[in-house]
Formats: sequence, C-alpha cells, structure tokens
Amino acid sequence: MHFKITQKEDSTAHKNLLPPISSIFGQNVFDLKQMAKRLSKIDQEKIAFVMKVGGKIDSELATRIASAVKEWAVDLGVTHYCHWFQPQTGNTAEKHDAFLWFDKSGLPFEKFTGEDLLQSEPDASSFPSGGIRSTFEARGYTAWDPSSPMFIIEETKGKTLYIPSVFLSYTGDILDFKTPLLKSNDSLSKEATKTLHLLGENQTEFVIVNIGPEQEFFVVDKDLAMKRIDLKFSGRTIFGNKPPKGQELEDHYFGNIPSRVQEFLHDFEFEMYRLGVPIKTRHNEVAPGQFEIAPIYESSNLACDHNQLVMKYLKSVALKHNFVVLLHEKPFAGVNGSGKHVNWSLSDSSGRNLLEPGKTPKENLVFLTFLVAILAGVNDNADVLRASIANAGNDHRLGANEAPPAIISVYLGSMLDKILNSIENGDSEKINAEKMMMDLGVSHLQQVSQDTTDRNRTSPFAFTGNKFEFRAVGSSASINFPTCILNAAVTDSLAKINETISQQKKSQFISSNELISILKNYITQTKRIRFEGNGYSEEWRQEASKRGLTNCSNTPGALDFFKDKSKTQFLINTKIFTQEDIHARLIIQQEKYLKEILIEMNCALEMAHTQIVPACLKYQKLLFKNLKLAEELKINSCTKQLTQNYSEKLNRIYSCTEALQLQLHKFTSEGVDHYHLSESCRNVYEKLIPKLNELKLAVDGIEEVTPADLWPFPKYREMLYGVE
Ligand code: ADP
Ligand code: MG
Repeated sequence: MHFKITQKEDSTAHKNLLPPISSIFGQNVFDLKQMAKRLSKIDQEKIAFVMKVGGKIDSELATRIASAVKEWAVDLGVTHYCHWFQPQTGNTAEKHDAFLWFDKSGLPFEKFTGEDLLQSEPDASSFPSGGIRSTFEARGYTAWDPSSPMFIIEETKGKTLYIPSVFLSYTGDILDFKTPLLKSNDSLSKEATKTLHLLGENQTEFVIVNIGPEQEFFVVDKDLAMKRIDLKFSGRTIFGNKPPKGQELEDHYFGNIPSRVQEFLHDFEFEMYRLGVPIKTRHNEVAPGQFEIAPIYESSNLACDHNQLVMKYLKSVALKHNFVVLLHEKPFAGVNGSGKHVNWSLSDSSGRNLLEPGKTPKENLVFLTFLVAILAGVNDNADVLRASIANAGNDHRLGANEAPPAIISVYLGSMLDKILNSIENGDSEKINAEKMMMDLGVSHLQQVSQDTTDRNRTSPFAFTGNKFEFRAVGSSASINFPTCILNAAVTDSLAKINETISQQKKSQFISSNELISILKNYITQTKRIRFEGNGYSEEWRQEASKRGLTNCSNTPGALDFFKDKSKTQFLINTKIFTQEDIHARLIIQQEKYLKEILIEMNCALEMAHTQIVPACLKYQKLLFKNLKLAEELKINSCTKQLTQNYSEKLNRIYSCTEALQLQLHKFTSEGVDHYHLSESCRNVYEKLIPKLNELKLAVDGIEEVTPADLWPFPKYREMLYGVE
C-alpha cells in the first residue's frame, strides 16, 4: 500500500482509507514477526534475547540474519542499506551503499553479507571527537546494535534499509551518544540485579530501563518562518515584540488542535506507526502554536532511537504541509519554551516495574530501596545531571522563571514525602520493618501510584506515581546523554547500597529490619535534594543555597562541572566513560555552545544591518517628510515629537548594533583555542549575550512603533497565530 502526503486532495482522499493502526504498525521494521518467517526458532530466540538484554551476535548468525533481511527488504523495493548512527552533533548520520554486486561472470546481483551487516567504516574525520582522534586516524567504524531493530525509510523516490549502529574509533574510543547509553543500561542492569538478589529475589535475571519521552515543539507557517533569518539559521527568534495576546488566557493548552496541524500530525503519525514508533498522545501545549506528542514508553535504547526518528519526521513531514517545526527550547520570548520530559523507570526480568509500590510489605521494601537509590544518585551527582542537559537553548528555560528551574531537586509528592519522613524519624532500635511496611505500605504506598494528581510542574525531577519524570531536558536534545547520566548516577548509588547491604547482612539475604536501618541513613543523607514546594520561587533559591544545592543557570558554568574529577568519578566507577571520554565530551559541548551563540550573533547583526535599520530609515524618512510639510503649513503637529522619539529609538539600535559588532570582533580576533574553551564560553556568556539582549530590547521597542507594513519580517502575532 502506498501513502501520499503532499497533496491536500490526497490526504483527504486517504482519510477514509486509513487502515487500523494495528494493521500498519511496524510494517517497515524487521522485527521478530518478520524474523519468524525467515529464521530458525533457535536463531529467533537468540536474537530476541539480545534485543531484550543485550549481548553479541556471532558472525554465522549475522550471515543468516543478513540474508533474511536482504530478502525481506529487496522484496519491498529497497535498493540501499546504511549504518545509522548518532555522532555527538546530537543528530543522526548515515552513509548509503547499494546492495549491488557482480558475480564472477560480471552479472549484477543483490548482495548483503553478515560482515556488511555487522560493521562499516565511514570516514569519521568530520564528526566531533573532542580531540580524541587526530585527523590522520580518520577512520571510525560503525557496528550494528542488534538491540534496536533494522527498519526501512521511504523517501519519495527510493527505499533504504537502516541499521541502528554504534560509532567508535579504531582504538575503541567512543564517538557517539549511543554507546555510552548501552553501557549505562548494562551497568545499571548488573547493579540493580545484584540489589534484588541481596533482597532475596534470586530469580531476577536482568533489569531494564524504560523511557517515555514527551516531545514539545512549535509549528510555524513555512512561508513566514523562511522570511526570518534568525529562525532559519538559529532555530529561534532573536527579535520579536510580544503580540497583544500571549498565553495569559490559558486557552491553548489541550484546546482544539487546528485542522491544518491535525492533518500534519496525522501524516506524521502514519509514518511513525509504520516505523514501529508507538505514538500515543497529541495535544496543544501551553503557548500559542505549541504542541506535544508522546509515545508509549519503551526500553531506553529503542526509545532514544525512536525519539531521533520523531524529531526527523516532525521536521520533514511538516515541510510537506508548508509548516516548519521548531524544536528549539525557546523559539519565542515571552511565551513558554519547549522541553522533553523524559519519563524513566526500571523493570525486572519478570516485567515488574520496580518503581511501582507493591501490594506486600516485601514488595514495598524493594520499591523503597530503589526509590532511595534514585534519591542518592541524584543527590550525589546533581551537578553532572545538570551538565547533561546544558545547551544554549535550554539556558532560556532553566533559571529563567519558567519550567523547570536550574536547581536540581526531586519532587516525591506529599504521601511519599511523609512516608520517608516517618521512616527517618522512626526509632532504629525498635524497628519492625514488616509492621512498618504493613502500616505505611499497605495503607499508603498503594495510594502513591494511584495518586498522580498532585503534580508539581515546577520540579526538574518528579516522581509521578510509578516513574520519574526528568523534565529539565531540552526539546532539541538527544535524550541518550541525560538518560545515560541518570542511569550512571543510579548505578553508582545502587553499588554503594549493595556494598553496605553486603557488609551489614548477617545471613544470605538482608533482613527487613537491617534494610530499613540502612535506608534510614540514606533518607537522612539525601533529604536536602527533596523539595515539594514551588520551584520558581525566590524562597526556593534561598533555601536551596542554604542546603548547599547548586543553582547554575548557564551552560558555560554547567559544562565546567565535567572538569571536576570528584564530580565525574561516578562515570568512571560505573565503567561508562574514561577520563579522556569525559574531557572529549566537554570540549564538544563547549564548541557547540560557542558556535551556536556566534551564529545567533551573526543573524542578529545581519538582520539589524540589512533589514531592521533600512526599514526604520524608511519610516524615519516618512516622518521627516511629514515634519517638513507640517512646518511649511505651519500646523501644530505631533509629528515633531514622534520624529524625535523615533529617531532616538533608531539611534539606540545603531549604537547597540555597533557595540555588539565591536564585542564580537574583539572576541573573534582574540581567537578560540582548545585549552581555553571554558574561558571563551564564559566570555560569550558574560560579554556578548548581554550586548545581544540590549540590541533585542531596542529592536523590540522600535517594532512596537513602526508601521506593520514596513516591518521587514513576520511578526510574533502572525507566526504564533498563523497555524489556526
Ligand atoms: P503527562 O503529560 O501527563 O506527564 P503523557 O501521557 O504526555 O503524560 O506522557 C507520559 C509518558 O510517560 C508517556 O510516554 C508514557 O508512555 C510514559 N510512561 C508511562 N509509564 C511509564 C513507565 N513505567 N516508565 C517510563 N515511562 C512511562
Ligand atoms: Mg504530556
């Protein structure tokens, strides 16, 4: 079946023809169902295990899988394959090869070997490596990640088989975002399984991380967006006077999805379903022109791959509907920005969610142990978690009086908070854990998972019934990295808890009473990270500072946390990164920050020089003419005041532009080198950005009094309300 999405008539025509989602779901994925048709039972079991738990595929099995996938793909009209990987640009990368080969007599045929499947060697010299590789060692290699199934991407012309892959250097250095995530999943699984064994759950084989990323974004009419240099090149509006109406009426959230957007989302979802991405929810977000889609959660590796596809398809399908999707964290000043709420939980090999309070005292002890480990992980590693979500765009959200704040804290909800307090205040000597769990657990803990209504939207990391929601992640970010850091933080604290349990247990398993007294200590130690109140308030800033929590509202400061070896030690302890990897990642992020800010500066200057000033001069000329006329006619007119005010505003723009230009020139002429990146980032943040903000203020002020027909690019009111 073929599905066209470009023409309005087509999309209306197929509306009636759209089959049930279940019948098209995963149509373009080489999943277990497809494997069952082409591989032996033993092979299927092996690969099913690797998909779920991880592990290696040997070369013979790879050969059989390659032949099966080629047969499936070629039947569907696929001509090429590619290893699809995630370099540290935050985007994905791919290099296509045709299945074409020739036999000895020179006859062409389709060939795809186990080797082709397992590995390829793209030239890696143009991908960021943070100085890990010199250019003469340009070759990197991509290796198939069998835990994420292969899929087919259809373009208007041609189909390609995509092979999800990791990306490494020949010496084994990590060059991508996927490898650390896989390593962190593995480390977490090992440590969490050990915890469960120590608690007497010997049957547990592994633990997996589940992720449900809610994706927020803005939709803008393409014709309008393309007229703005800032949107086109930096992804956000640098200038823009607030429209008469913003989000104050709170009438957009959960409102009617505008029909043009609905059509776009419908086509987007159709593509997602065929690729096996389980999109479940769509709705209007708080700001005008802002929307959210959310999938059903999946194992973290798959969820991260799928979020990359979501971002790619949101953008590409939007274009076919004459829209532009903005994934930037703050495309418009004055209305809410966009985030990516990463919902995170753990489940064991039996499928039980470890963050679901249980029905028995024993289950509740498991829940509390993991809860406490998460609190400890966040408490001990809050600064690196903060650093993991730092980017230029997110600086406009974090610490800027909108969700969520830059101070990392954990919200548990009043019920759980009370339960932890009463464990903390209980008398250790007299602990009867079973009774305590009976009292607390059965009567209260069950309500915790049911009671998801008392949500605190101001928390960067909130417990929501049976999962945590990491809300501080930016909308444009790859979720691999924050997920990996969170996994590592929890692995680290589980390792510590395991160590304490091993030391203190008197028999094979720890007794409930012994466990409660261990948890009690952790509850006290991690209390400072728990916060139930309003995260935006000034009181919280003061209180957090008293508690010794960091409040870092900018990327340069946050990235510097990666330099502090005592803060990053947990990444090495958990065997996810080496010190060199961490250093390389720091450099890549700092360079990215600098480049992004400099692009914004260049956009601002170009807009000021070539659009704003010329347009304002036109209006000023008109005012001059009017003034002259009024004087000639000796008419007492407001033109004089108007001309004077306007000229002052225009002069201000000119002086702000000059000041920015000068500062930028100073910065670029001093040069940027690898050894002083922190200093350069700080310079940009402290000296350049304030100059840009001054210019913005001046420009927004003059936009307010310039005739709309003379304003040289689309205004907020057109863009924010242009999709209804
Ligand atoms: P809300 O906006 O109310 O927070 P949404 O329905 O938009 O909720 O998104 C919630 C996300 O959390 C979905 O992606 C959902 O699949 C995911 N989720 C639900 N349960 C879990 C879980 N146990 N682990 C991880 N993610 C989960
Ligand atoms: Mg949501």
